[in-house]
Amino acid sequence: AINQEEDSEDQLVSRPPIVTVMGHVDHGKTSLLDYIRKANVIAGEAGGITQHIGAYNVKLADGRHITFLDTPGHEAFTAMRARGAKVTDICIIIVAADDNVMPQTIEAINHASAAGVPIVFAINKIDKPAANPDKVKEELANMNYLVEEWGGKYQSQDISAKKGIGVEELMEKVLLEAEMLDLKANPDRRATGSIIESSLDKGRGYVATVLVQNGTLRVGDVILAGTHFGRIKAMFNERNQRIKEAGPSEPALILGLNGAPTAGDTFNVMEAESEAREIANKREQLQREQGARTKKI
Ligand code: GDP
Repeated sequence: AINQEEDSEDQLVSRPPIVTVMGHVDHGKTSLLDYIRKANVIAGEAGGITQHIGAYNVKLADGRHITFLDTPGHEAFTAMRARGAKVTDICIIIVAADDNVMPQTIEAINHASAAGVPIVFAINKIDKPAANPDKVKEELANMNYLVEEWGGKYQSQDISAKKGIGVEELMEKVLLEAEMLDLKANPDRRATGSIIESSLDKGRGYVATVLVQNGTLRVGDVILAGTHFGRIKAMFNERNQRIKEAGPSEPALILGLNGAPTAGDTFNVMEAESEAREIANKREQLQREQGARTKKI
C-alpha cells in the first residue's frame, strides 16, 4: 500500500529549501536561474550545471544547499498547486528595477500568498542606468508588501542577474527564510515526492525529473506516479552523473517508467510492482470513466 505513515520527531532531519523564481516576463527569471545554474553560485564546482533540468540543487560555499525548480513560467507552479502538490517552500519574486510592478508580478505574489509560501523579493537589473529599485519597493509598499529595510517583514535584495551582483546575498536571505521554516524530512522511509517534468527519450525510453520530498529514492525502487509506474533502472543528478539514491529535497532524472506522468503528479515508492500496476490501472480506468462522463454532459 502507499506508505502514508507520519514520521516521528526523532526520525526527522533538516532538508534544503525548495525554491521557485517567479516574475513578469523579461524581468530576469531565466537570467537569474542561468546564473545560479552555471556559476553554481558559490560552491565553485568546476563546470556548473550545463544541461537543462527542471530542478537542480546547488551547494553554497558554507556547504548549505538550495534546490531550485526551473519550471517554464508559473503555469507549472499553478498546475502543481491545482493538483494539490506543494512543491515550493520559498518563492523568489523578481522585479526589474527599470520597470514597474507588473500584472504577472502581482499574480505571482498572489499565488505565493495564497499557497502560504514565503516571498523574498529580488529587485533585478540594478546595473542599468535607468534602474530605480526604490521605486519598485515603493510600489510594493503600496500593495502592503513592505520590505525589511523599510521596516516591513519582506526580505528583498537588489541584484543584477546578468552580472551576478547581489546573488550571493539573495541566497543568504533565502536560507534565512528557510531557517525560520525549520524544514525537515525523514530520509529513512520509502520516497514520496513530485514529478517535475517527463518526456519520451529516443534512446532511453521514458525519462522523468522527480523531486524527492520525503524519504530516499533508490535505483531498483518501484515507483508509482499517476497512471504510470516502473522499476527505476538508473538515476542521474543535475550534472548528468549516475547516482544510486536521492534524499529529501534532491532532484533526480529517473529511467524505467512505463509512460510519462504529468508534471505535478505526486509519486510514491511501492513495495511490489504488481501493486503499483494494479493502482495505476485503477487510476487509468477511473480517468477513462470520468472522461466519458464529462463527454456525455
Ligand atoms: P525572463 O523573461 O524573466 O526569463 O527574463 P530574461 O532572463 O530572459 O531577461 C530578459 C532580458 O533582460 C534579457 O535580454 C536579459 O539579458 C536582460 N536582463 C536580465 N537580467 C538583467 C540584468 O541584471 N541586467 C541587465 N542589464 N539586463 C538583464
